Amino acid sequence: MKTVVITGAGGVLCGTLAKALAKQGYQIALLDLKKEAADKIANEINAAGGKAIGVAANVLEKESLEAAKKEVNEKLGSCDILVNGAGGNHPLGTTSNPFLMEVDLQNTTEGFKTFFDLDAEGIKFVFNLNFIGTLLPTQVFSKDMIGKKGCSILNISSMNAFTPLTKIPAYSGAKAAVSNFTQWLAVHFSKVGIRVNALAPGFFLTDQNRALLTTENGELTARGNTIIGQTPMGRFGEPEDLISTTLYLCDDASSFVTGVVIPIDGGFSAFSGV
Ligand code: NAD
Repeated sequence: MKTVVITGAGGVLCGTLAKALAKQGYQIALLDLKKEAADKIANEINAAGGKAIGVAANVLEKESLEAAKKEVNEKLGSCDILVNGAGGNHPLGTTSNPFLMEVDLQNTTEGFKTFFDLDAEGIKFVFNLNFIGTLLPTQVFSKDMIGKKGCSILNISSMNAFTPLTKIPAYSGAKAAVSNFTQWLAVHFSKVGIRVNALAPGFFLTDQNRALLTTENGELTARGNTIIGQTPMGRFGEPEDLISTTLYLCDDASSFVTGVVIPIDGGFSAFSGV
């Protein structure tokens, strides 16, 4: 039985992927900063007849990841597949408006942020969480894969890595780094038999973007409406939309596929808007 380690597994998207992978017979280590969130999903998997453990881990601290690896190795054996799912944005790396207008420089509303107000610490937080938070777990867990067959790494980039989204320069740049790293690592690991690929999800309604895309009574914000208008398939993604591509990239069915970043975005990144 292959062991899959998933970071950010207590979250919406990776929790769904954990359950789907468990259904296929993989045993799952769910790593998350919030152990209760990881445990909750592990319990659901175990109750449904699968095998899973929740493990506390911070993807930004190597010692924490080493401790998590020790626990995974003791309880489930060595890691075959790593899904680097932990990631996200931060308001301190986000501008209030999509375009800078001269009048914005006089805006004294509390919390209003132009490009000039972006906080370097906020930008670093987002870069670290998405990029360093992909690199460190890979350093720790891919050591288990060397010399074994059928091992792979799946990163979670974003469709904003192809073309940056307005307002979120830190998150767009950090995910572009994740896509670039996916290709770099695919080449670097090609002689030791570890495939490295990524998903580039489009817009999925989750806790990290719900407030940006919907109002308190569930209606679309102006930004939410723009997104749906720019998505040829005319809807947000559902977490389940990520399952089949994940299963394919983790399975030997994709044994000659490495270094790809697959958009799962209802056509958003293919559409020029005209
Ligand atoms: P989510 O916020 O529901 O889940 C993220 C999980 O990561 C949370 O459980 C959180 O506790 C955990 N986490 C945060 N910091 C951590 C750390 N330092 N160490 C370990 N765990 C940590 O988010 P989601 O929407 O399910 O996103 C999952 C991935 O998909 C992220 O990489 C995100 O950037 C990416 N993504 C999401 C969307 C979307 O529309 N939701 C689109 C494109 C890409």
